[in-house]
Amino acid sequence: MNLLSKNSLAVHLLRIIFGSYFLVTLVVTCVQLGAEYRHARSSVDNELLAMDRTFGASLASSTWRFQGDVQKATLAGISNLPVVTGVKIEDPQGRLMMALGNIIDNSGAQVHIEEDGSQSAVRPGFLNAATSHRFPILYRDEHGVMHDIGSWTVYSSRHVVIGKVAYGFTLILINSVIKTLVLWFIFLYVFRRWLGQPITRLADFVRELDLNQMETPRSIHLPGRRRHELHFLADAINLMLAKLHRHTIHNHALYKELEQEKQSLSALNRSLELRIAERTRDLAQANEQLRSLSLTDGLTGIANRRSFDETLEQEWRRSMRHGTPLMLAFIDVDWFKPYNDHYGHLAGDAVLRQVAQTLRQSIARVGDTVARYGGEEFAIIAADTDGQAGADMLRRMCDAVHALAIAHAGSAMGRITISAGVASCNPGQPGAGLDGLLQAADAALYRAKMEGRNRVVLATELIVSP
Ligand code: GH3
Ligand code: MG
Ligand code: MG
Repeated sequence: MNLLSKNSLAVHLLRIIFGSYFLVTLVVTCVQLGAEYRHARSSVDNELLAMDRTFGASLASSTWRFQGDVQKATLAGISNLPVVTGVKIEDPQGRLMMALGNIIDNSGAQVHIEEDGSQSAVRPGFLNAATSHRFPILYRDEHGVMHDIGSWTVYSSRHVVIGKVAYGFTLILINSVIKTLVLWFIFLYVFRRWLGQPITRLADFVRELDLNQMETPRSIHLPGRRRHELHFLADAINLMLAKLHRHTIHNHALYKELEQEKQSLSALNRSLELRIAERTRDLAQANEQLRSLSLTDGLTGIANRRSFDETLEQEWRRSMRHGTPLMLAFIDVDWFKPYNDHYGHLAGDAVLRQVAQTLRQSIARVGDTVARYGGEEFAIIAADTDGQAGADMLRRMCDAVHALAIAHAGSAMGRITISAGVASCNPGQPGAGLDGLLQAADAALYRAKMEGRNRVVLATELIVSP
């Protein structure tokens, strides 16, 4: 750093110290100057007063004897003295008789009088302010009688007094300037050497620190035999660095641990997500299976009674909305009890599966429903199908079962046959009801049984519920 840099601590301190020093010196010098001035003024006064003893007798004698040349020479001698700026002689009436140098005339104005008597005005000013002493000119004759024959006045000025003080003051000033300059540079060097440089070293050291480094940090040591506050500051910085280093290592280990935890957590999270997705899929499949199972008949694999009930309600509402007819048929296997009794229950189950399969294959449209209503009874639901079309479909079914030619010794037909009752209605028509449709189909089936079995009966009219 530059020795005289404005940002230097040394320069800053020196400014404060020397600023204060300058103010104190100024005050002390002013007081000293005042005292010197007073002293010089009184010394000038004394010198002026002493002049009466030196020149008074000579002036009295030359004036008494009208020796103008002697008077003139005496005045010239007086005015040549360093403290004198002017001198004048007046007669007893106060009239100016002779003068030389700067004097104050009778009008009170300051004038300058040359040896040849020519006058010029003196500019009034601080330095020209005059001080004077007036002495009477007394002559004692040979009889011892004292005669007052006029007066003489000697003048000095502030300029003379200041001239006396100026020399001493100049010496003081030069002394102060030299002392100040020398001290300034000595102080500057000392401050910089013992204060500025160590502080700059500390600042550079702290600025270059890397707190994240894992290696043991450097430490700072200030030179010097005598330890002072800056050494204590360096020690404190070293101690703080050691603590920070321990914390950094600890934090680093923690951070690593956290990173590992984070990774294992995210791995766990991923596997959990996968397992959840797998479970969700399994659950959805299980749900689907359950739903399908809950709607499927276990023996035959076609829709069960519950599915039948739901479908019938749905189709009823849909047909009502669309204004289309809905067909319902009940099917019952003929003489099935004797079959079971003769061929066994397992053979009966096999027949039920075969019949269900045949019915399913014989439906007219994909949307038609074949359900096991219960025991050896089945039901068909066909939307948008009137009674005639339904009866035709059921006849095809009867024929198909008949064509299976499953031997049945207990039947008059010698084979397995079915009977069916068909009913159809338009749900939107007045008086129509689901119960009526069910009862009509049931009644038609009953009639098919009564009329000899292996046949289809179409309900001619719906049974209207009260
Ligand atoms: P009908 O011609 O009048 O219908 O005479 P049916 O002997 O068939 O009389 P019904 O319809 O009353 O007989 C029902 C019989 O169906 C009783 C039972 O032995 C048999 N059955 C009901 N459910 C099953 C079943 O799940 N498996 C078997 N193998 N037989 C069943
Ligand atoms: Mg039955
Ligand atoms: Mg039966």
